Amino acid sequence: MKKRCECGDTKKLHLRTVVYARKVNITRVPVYCCSRCGSHEVDSGVKGEIGSLIGQLGSKPAPRTIPFDQMNEWAGVLSLAMDTGKEPLEENLVARAAEERTNELLDLWLIAASLGDEIWKSELEGRLSQLRSLYIS
Ligand SMILES: [Zn+2]
Repeated sequence: MKKRCECGDTKKLHLRTVVYARKVNITRVPVYCCSRCGSHEVDSGVKGEIGSLIGQLGSKPAPRTIPFDQMNEWAGVLSLAMDTGKEPLEENLVARAAEERTNELLDLWLIAASLGDEIWKSELEGRLSQLRSLYIS
């Protein structure tokens, strides 16, 4: 998992703790980092969600730790891949983790469907679409 850096080297994907307003630790955020020039960039797939999270926290948040991989499926998948391998994240491990998580969500969706639980179903559909749109892009 890497992309080109402006300096000509490559940025690699890591999971980092982002500190907001010096009080809130948002852990396991996917960030591309360049080891040559030190440039950092939040993965474009999660930028929107980080933005709205920060918006909800407001300008004077209470100190707390937010595990981002529990909120966002893509961060969850990367976190799973990291537990089975090492940083920087390898593409094949990420692909495998994404597939496992997708299958898990589909199993849950089938259970929700058989129970006729519409709220649970739509929550799972939201999670599945997070994975699909991010992973395929
Ligand atoms: Zn660079």
